[in-house]
Amino acid sequence: LAKTALRTAFRTCPLCEATCGLELTLEGRDLVRVRGDHDDVFSHGYLCPKAIALVDLENDPDRIRTPLVREGKSFREASWEEAFERVAQGVRKVIDAHGPNAVALYAGNPNAHNLSGTYLRVLLQALRTQNFYSASTVDQMPKQVSAGMMFGTLLSIPVPDVDRCEHLLMLGANPFVSNGSLFTAPALPDRLRALRRRGGKLVVVDPRFTQTAKEADEHHFIVPGTDALLLFAIVHTLFDEGLVRMGPIGEHTNGVDDVRALASSFAPETVSDACGIGAEQIRRMAREVAGADRAAVYARIGTCTQEFGTLASWLVDVVNVLAGNLDRLGGAMFAKGAAGAFNTTGTPGAGRGVRFGRWHSRVRGAPEVYGELPVACLTEEIETPGEGQIRAMISIAGNPASSTPDAARLDRALASLEFMVSVDIYVNETTRHADVILPAQGALTRGHYDIALYQLACRNVAHYSPPALELAPGEMHEWEVLLRLAAIAAGQADTPAEIIDEMVAREALRRAGNPDGAWEAVAHRRGPERVLDILLRTGPYDLSLEMLEQNPHGVDLGPLEPRIPEVLRTPSGRIELAPPALVDDVARLRAALARTRNGGVVLVGRRQLRSNNSWMHNLGTLRGGTNVCTLQIHPDDAERFGVEDGKPARVTSSAGTIDVPAEVTDAIMPGVVSIPHGWGLYDGANSNTLAPADLIDPLSGNAVLNGIPVTVAPA
Ligand code: SF4
Repeated sequence: LAKTALRTAFRTCPLCEATCGLELTLEGRDLVRVRGDHDDVFSHGYLCPKAIALVDLENDPDRIRTPLVREGKSFREASWEEAFERVAQGVRKVIDAHGPNAVALYAGNPNAHNLSGTYLRVLLQALRTQNFYSASTVDQMPKQVSAGMMFGTLLSIPVPDVDRCEHLLMLGANPFVSNGSLFTAPALPDRLRALRRRGGKLVVVDPRFTQTAKEADEHHFIVPGTDALLLFAIVHTLFDEGLVRMGPIGEHTNGVDDVRALASSFAPETVSDACGIGAEQIRRMAREVAGADRAAVYARIGTCTQEFGTLASWLVDVVNVLAGNLDRLGGAMFAKGAAGAFNTTGTPGAGRGVRFGRWHSRVRGAPEVYGELPVACLTEEIETPGEGQIRAMISIAGNPASSTPDAARLDRALASLEFMVSVDIYVNETTRHADVILPAQGALTRGHYDIALYQLACRNVAHYSPPALELAPGEMHEWEVLLRLAAIAAGQADTPAEIIDEMVAREALRRAGNPDGAWEAVAHRRGPERVLDILLRTGPYDLSLEMLEQNPHGVDLGPLEPRIPEVLRTPSGRIELAPPALVDDVARLRAALARTRNGGVVLVGRRQLRSNNSWMHNLGTLRGGTNVCTLQIHPDDAERFGVEDGKPARVTSSAGTIDVPAEVTDAIMPGVVSIPHGWGLYDGANSNTLAPADLIDPLSGNAVLNGIPVTVAPA
């Protein structure tokens, strides 16, 4: 294409949960510059280095832009029709011979940032497989489980009202590097600095002295995997010292006495040794959380990806409730999403709640959670012969062979599949096993709206970004790709995507009560934009997609407001402070208290500012500098194991062994070592090789990626 004059487009960054507004400069089809959008109603110009790398990403010669089909050990380019024909043959052959459960679907993290991701549900329904896996079970599933049990839906997750908060206790999160997670707050570092500037206090609990800890008022090292013990001790102190003040939400809360009874055996003095935090410090943490005018507890990845992930996630909100900080200005509050939020539909204040374990994984019997099985089970479901064995896989924007436990074993298992199709922009550790790779649509040719993330935002916002570029010749909308796959899975490969698309939209409208005139208003749109328009029109703010199109910097819907009891969707219509499944799991935590530390070391992960999960490591903007894969180890441990700074260390777990250069630092607690997540294909070592697939949090099925027992030696 001939180059034309420079032009500007505004859109939301699709790379992480912060939803920063970007100002893009385009020349013809080329993205030439990315800056923060200073007029964005939410991010006000903030951006991080990952957004700059969008230029590299858009122009990356490694990207797949044409369907690829396998020929022997390599791929060749093919037409869409040939590629879909191969998929139809491969997928239908397996389904016809072995039934729907023989095909697994894996969805990676980028689907959460892609409006077309809403069509994954259509593909899943067409497949009728119980083998659905996603990156959620190596990430945030424990929080979604505890929130569902307490408040009734999977995204009813309170977030710190950070702009009005005066005391924030933060566990297992490092927002100065990764921004917020399950907490949409662009420029979160700036918001946390502002909290401190207005006299507030930030307390960080983490096995590493992180970038966030450096900027905090106080930091406590904690033994990985013991956050639930610490939080229970805080709960204990609240009862013990008469600090429970629930305020108005008390009359909407069940189970307070049950929690009091459970907490009785977790006194600070009892858990102190296990956590590595002094009892008096724990009591002071409890007093400060209860005593501040506007306080919140927030916890994230380190507390989720561990053996007591759901208990820890639950106890965060138990503390918020008991200290009177839930649903209070400056405390932990619920956002009100403008589109697609389950806690804004149905009857306000009551619902069906959540139900898990409707089916179980075939080999180890792990329960289904929100329709998916733990990805830690995926390898064994492929490897183990018998009825229901996975023989084919569809992966959508995911790289489980890199980013899930026992990654090297999964890599081998994928090679044994009878058929695999991937929708992706790269050949990576996973898609290299595919028989067909269908190119995913580039970010700039898609409309963008963060349905899920605005349900977790620290301010109510709606922001739609129209496509900045038309599809190039030969490209296909991703929603169309997903619907073509759905048609194949349903045995109706000839059904045009537009027909299924209309059925999807009419179903969305039916669920919303078929308001008068709504179909006529949206009928001219197609794909996820039409569904989004329906959700906006029938949502709590009476918006429309047209209104958002007229506001390229987003629409500010105001600060968070108290929502209890209206937000609740539990069958009782109350906050369930002591859900039975969580109460039952406390015995496991109590048993862990009896463990003694034996001088061994455990592995935790870490985030890097210029790293985006398991992809984008090939992009020049994000390579080099501080972005290196090292084993952080405390000087005492380095001496103990004979490991030298800068020299390779050998790390071994029950799942595998990798060699990583050592970084000797007192920014990590003794007895803990850390390797960053996401390395492996281009350079560095993949820490997920060390994660044993049998270690999961039983309630959520989430993999244990923090607190893995390892040995360390010079390589
Ligand atoms: S913080 Fe996240 S959303 Fe913001 S620019 Fe960086 S990657 Fe994009």
